[in-house]
Amino acid sequence: MTDSDKVLEEFKELFSVIKLCYQCGTCAGGCPVFKQNTQFNPRRIMEKLLLGNYSENIIDEQQIWYCTTCYTCSVRCPQGIDIGHVITEIKNLAVKMNNVPPGIIAEMKSIIETGFTAAISQSILNKREKLGLPELPKADHNEVQKLLEVTGVSDRINQLANLKEDV
Ligand code: SF4
Ligand code: SF4
Repeated sequence: MTDSDKVLEEFKELFSVIKLCYQCGTCAGGCPVFKQNTQFNPRRIMEKLLLGNYSENIIDEQQIWYCTTCYTCSVRCPQGIDIGHVITEIKNLAVKMNNVPPGIIAEMKSIIETGFTAAISQSILNKREKLGLPELPKADHNEVQKLLEVTGVSDRINQLANLKEDV
């Protein structure tokens, strides 16, 4: 079974919804990421799905990881397509196919280790102190670690990180 076949299988249910897209572009018009980075375009992602360019153009598409899952597109789509959910499904498939950008893996590792997506630098802490801002709350990363452990996320992230190191 090729990667495209696997994607087709996974997308069977979603296709009944995706095919309703008539490419009006409302999703892109309201997308906060598209406003900053026109390389990320939910309408184009839907077009690729409609055209059947799966693995090579979508799963391998690093742009999907820019989606913040804000669901503005889903709320505004005149066809009622939950585009935010479609993109999440694409991300899930990308994870299954070990195709996750190093930056996302690094963020996940940081969450596991510190509870934050990125360590807060000392210079930022100094600046906050100078400005008289209150101390930042500490993340309970033991609780976060436990959750990621029991859901199997930690193991999966470590696998993905090892794969990247082996390349
Ligand atoms: S808003 Fe809906 S119908 Fe319009 S392009 Fe986006 S997904 Fe397609
Ligand atoms: S869910 Fe993703 S694609 Fe949709 S509007 Fe938000 S950032 Fe854009």
